[in-house]
Amino acid sequence: MYDFLIVGSGLYGSTCAYELSKLGKKVLVLEKKDHIGGNIYTENVEGIQVHRYGAHIFHTNDQGIWDYVNQFATFNRYTNSPVAFYKGRAYNLPFNMNTFNQLWGTITPEQARDKIDEQRNKLGNKKPDNLEEQAISLVGEEIYTTLIKGYTEKQWGRSATELPASIIKRLPVRFTYDNNYFNDRFQGIPIGGYTQIAEKMLANSEVRCGVDYLGDKENFDALAKKVIYTGPIDRFFDYCYGKLEYRSLRFETETLAQENFQGNAVINYTEREVPYTRIIEHKHFDYIDTDKTVITREYPSEWQEGMEPYYPVNDEKNNSLYRRYRELSKQQEKTYFGGRLAEYKYYDMHQVIASALSDLKKIIH
Ligand code: FAD
Ligand code: UDP
Repeated sequence: MYDFLIVGSGLYGSTCAYELSKLGKKVLVLEKKDHIGGNIYTENVEGIQVHRYGAHIFHTNDQGIWDYVNQFATFNRYTNSPVAFYKGRAYNLPFNMNTFNQLWGTITPEQARDKIDEQRNKLGNKKPDNLEEQAISLVGEEIYTTLIKGYTEKQWGRSATELPASIIKRLPVRFTYDNNYFNDRFQGIPIGGYTQIAEKMLANSEVRCGVDYLGDKENFDALAKKVIYTGPIDRFFDYCYGKLEYRSLRFETETLAQENFQGNAVINYTEREVPYTRIIEHKHFDYIDTDKTVITREYPSEWQEGMEPYYPVNDEKNNSLYRRYRELSKQQEKTYFGGRLAEYKYYDMHQVIASALSDLKKIIH
């Protein structure tokens, strides 16, 4: 008999497993994939750490979370500065004085502000209530058209007018010449990859990979006093209220016999006509010096059963459906729900760790 059965070995499940085993609890972790770590999984290809499920940059403002994750790896000083390609020209991200200069030739913050003010007039004083309006109100029409609309509509498969404003608020807008994608105090990539973090977190738990908990739920439930479930919440309840919408991704990875393919770790393709959203060149996350390089193209698609759900679509319709599942989950006596899929939240890694640590206080008592 186990004290805890944890479904999913992603960062949420692994954090729970680590904390619970530290308290002397007997923990069994089931993982559907053939490896641990969920989305943070990285693997060594030609001496390069490849982020199998898309670019992962750890960033946080919270000293406690930064210290916590540094227990499991040494982080480098990587600063994410993606570049956007649009119709053969390169623009710095996030939206900052470099971007404004590239678009308009403006050189002072005042000139850039004037330009943006001119372009957001059409909104008047209206409070933005979708992604398109929010973007125009932040950076004006031209940046919206060049760097946001095409990327957003292929990433989410929906018009930007149907998407929540919150998505675009993830990106900083700065009137300084600063290409750092994040505002957080701490940022980096673990030297040697992310998988070691999950390995260390799971070191004192029993882990079974290639096992779908929902394929034999009753028998697995019988093995443990409590269950922590980190998979999609709607699937747990056999989609009884209907399916939540997710975005899925197809990753196309190739090894190239050249030293440097694109000169940056992340290049976004903001034109609607280019079918992928970004190309990652993994070696640039870790300043690796090798003859070869590994790149990954990221193609977004609508999620269908059998695919990996990567992003929740947090519009009103899905959020209210989620709330019904959440209510249902409260009736589960011995099962707790957490993480990006079970909470249907667009969590970054630092938020997943924070959420797991906070939930554990309630789970353990
Ligand atoms: P997951 O990693 O999804 O783990 C859930 C696990 O449960 C999976 O391994 C799954 O296989 C398993 N599972 C599900 N159902 C079952 C079942 N029935 N039986 C057994 N196992 C099951 N965050 C950042 O901070 N910085 C970034 O740069 C960043 N980039 C990202 C880029 C992409 C493309 C994506 C998709 C996410 C990115 N994130 C980033 C977010 C980050 O990946 C997540 O916040 C975090 O990994 C989520 O952890 P989790 O444990 O909640 O979920
Ligand atoms: N976005 C955009 N253009 C870009 C980069 C991002 O319009 O070049 C928008 C897009 O809607 C995206 C959102 O900003 O979904 C959040 O971007 P982020 O880089 O945080 O996405 P993630 O890395 O989570 O996929």
